[in-house]
Amino acid sequence: MNGALLEQTFDLGGRPPVTKWLRFAQPIEQCYTQETAERRVKELRIAILLGLFIYNIYNISSIWLVPDIVDLAWILRIGVITPSTLLLVWAIGRISLEWTERLVTIGVFNGYLVPVFLFWLSRDPASLFTYAELPLTIIFANLLLALRFANAVVFTGSAYVVTLLAIATKGGLGYDLSLTFVLQISTVCFFALFANFRYERMRCENYLRTLSARLEAEMAKSDGLKFRDQSRTDDLTGLPNRRQLTEVLRGALSQRRSTAVLMVDVDHFKLYNDALGHPAGDACLQRIADAFARIAAADESAFCARFGGEEFTFVLQDRSEFEAARFARSVQETIEALRMPHPARGDGLDVVTVSVGVTWGGRDLSRDLDEMLVAADRALYEAKRRGRNCFAFDEGGFVPSAASA
Ligand code: GH3
Ligand code: MG
Ligand code: MG
Repeated sequence: MNGALLEQTFDLGGRPPVTKWLRFAQPIEQCYTQETAERRVKELRIAILLGLFIYNIYNISSIWLVPDIVDLAWILRIGVITPSTLLLVWAIGRISLEWTERLVTIGVFNGYLVPVFLFWLSRDPASLFTYAELPLTIIFANLLLALRFANAVVFTGSAYVVTLLAIATKGGLGYDLSLTFVLQISTVCFFALFANFRYERMRCENYLRTLSARLEAEMAKSDGLKFRDQSRTDDLTGLPNRRQLTEVLRGALSQRRSTAVLMVDVDHFKLYNDALGHPAGDACLQRIADAFARIAAADESAFCARFGGEEFTFVLQDRSEFEAARFARSVQETIEALRMPHPARGDGLDVVTVSVGVTWGGRDLSRDLDEMLVAADRALYEAKRRGRNCFAFDEGGFVPSAASA
């Protein structure tokens, strides 16, 4: 998902994937909405309340500019626009971001209609000066509210048309003044919309840049984890590999807890390969590994790794010598019970078996990792010497007959 998203954040030409209305391609738009909604609503609320405060200051200038309809001006500003705007401020945190943007656009357009209406309706000569409020509202919507570009186009276009209608139908303006007003409102609409476009494009690019940097960092991190995991797992069997064994065993020994190491080796495996082929040998190792993985999974103080070749290693913690011996016996019996045919071993048995060398660290907690592995290997050699399909402890260790008793 992250990779696909990352590919979309910038196309090959380095241009951001936004439509001409400056909307992101899906699913980036979705990410953007989720991540920025809270901040956007907060910014909008501040801008709207500030705008509303200044908007109401114009109630004072209405006394001089539109004295003939000053009551109407107050009713519209204080009685209609102010409460509906406060309702809007309350509502925008409770609806989707898309609807928030739409409602804010509608709200600011309603706010714009009031000065246009007062300008159009008043017959007082001073009413011409209310015209100055119109560019302010257009700039406010495009730059302070920073409407999203598509909404800014709708708002600015509608405001422009309404203003042209007001200029065309207001009595007594005259050709020269009308032309001047048209020129002014055209310029303001163009500048404000152009500025909104640039601002919005910058916002899109910044977001995409941040998003792609973040996705790249997340992917690098997960690739690193995967790599780390791969370097600690055996390819053929999926068991932890020798590197992980070293970490686990070193950790166990450093805690000075009683630790047993079991070295497990498949008996006559070379003959198995020779008779059935290397792929069959691989499959046999995988079945053995699966069985060992199940044993380790069922026992939280047992860990199993592939040591290398046809050798596996168990690490046991907090076990008595007797328990370690029982464990070794169960490992050996589990493999024998799989009854995997071994047609070529020539020692009377016809199934795959393992031999187990055990060293128990409970007697001497000062032994290090290498000493434990060498001791387990020595014990394994002893098990082989005794005839295979059995387990043995290293020198001075447990007497196997006691475990089978
Ligand atoms: P012993 O009972 O004394 O352990 O005899 P052995 O034949 O098992 O021991 P030896 O060390 O002579 O041979 C081990 C064989 O294991 C040789 C090697 O080809 C085979 N082997 C090691 N790793 C793999 C592997 O990944 N896949 C397969 N198929 N065979 C492997
Ligand atoms: Mg071997
Ligand atoms: Mg072997």
